[in-house]
Amino acid sequence: MTLTERLGAIAPQSWLRVSIGVAVLTIALKTLAWWVSNSVGLLSDAMESLVNLASAAFALLMVRVAQQPPDAEHPYGHHKAEYFSSAFEGLAIIVAALAIIAAAVQRFFHPQGLDQLGWGLGLSVLSSAFNGVLAWAMLQSARVHRSMALEGDARHLITDVWTSAGVVIGIALVAATHWLWLDPLVAVGVALNILREGWDLVWRSSQGLMDKRVERSVQAEIDRVLKSFEHPKIRFDHITTRRSGRRRFLDMHMHMPANWTLRRAAEARGAVEQALMSAVPGLRASIQLLPSDVEAHSEDAEDLP
Ligand SMILES: [Zn+2]
Repeated sequence: MTLTERLGAIAPQSWLRVSIGVAVLTIALKTLAWWVSNSVGLLSDAMESLVNLASAAFALLMVRVAQQPPDAEHPYGHHKAEYFSSAFEGLAIIVAALAIIAAAVQRFFHPQGLDQLGWGLGLSVLSSAFNGVLAWAMLQSARVHRSMALEGDARHLITDVWTSAGVVIGIALVAATHWLWLDPLVAVGVALNILREGWDLVWRSSQGLMDKRVERSVQAEIDRVLKSFEHPKIRFDHITTRRSGRRRFLDMHMHMPANWTLRRAAEARGAVEQALMSAVPGLRASIQLLPSDVEAHSEDAEDLP
């Protein structure tokens, strides 16, 4: 096995635990970097890592809750737990970004000297190196295990490595030019990026809670399967889909000649269901059997006012 395959074989939950450990280490290193240098740019970078810690902890919780099997009170499962945690995570990110902007604006009007920038930058680069390696390893595992939670966490870590790189460049410029205003400017830049990330998370969570339809690639796969069952006497209509965490749901009608026996119709329906479920992992298809010339009453019911 190559190193990539070995890393990929490690379960998402284990990686999320590792990433919580690395987030704690990163917070310690970056807080130290801010402490020795007095730079708000480095402080904003440390705050960003605090958000990482919260994200990794929530992602771990989410994977656990979402994996719980359906029970009497939640017969469709617990997959939407993901959206609650990611919405909360997004709000936490937004609060962190606003705190950074407040600190940076204050520093802009009351500039303070920076010390020991070499140490501050060194510590920041060291912790970014840890994060970069971890993010790469997590992506290998996310690919193998098809884990959205893990992939999200890894992509978030990668953006952090880039923001840290921006902070390091900005602070190095402060050291070279002694333009103190550059430090709060860098901090605001980081904060705006964090704000965008937070908003993106809140937006995607709200879409999930509102039963967004499946991804285009999944829809294409469904269309392909239905096309393979094309038959002059069979009609598929009223196809609706929705997603719930890692689960995908499909509701549709399958119209067949009224004189087919129930057994023949049920066998045809069963074959379509099997094909759909093997084409789209995690899909739950619910197919209503109807005669060719009859439509379901639910379709002509008036909607709620
Ligand atoms: Zn129909």
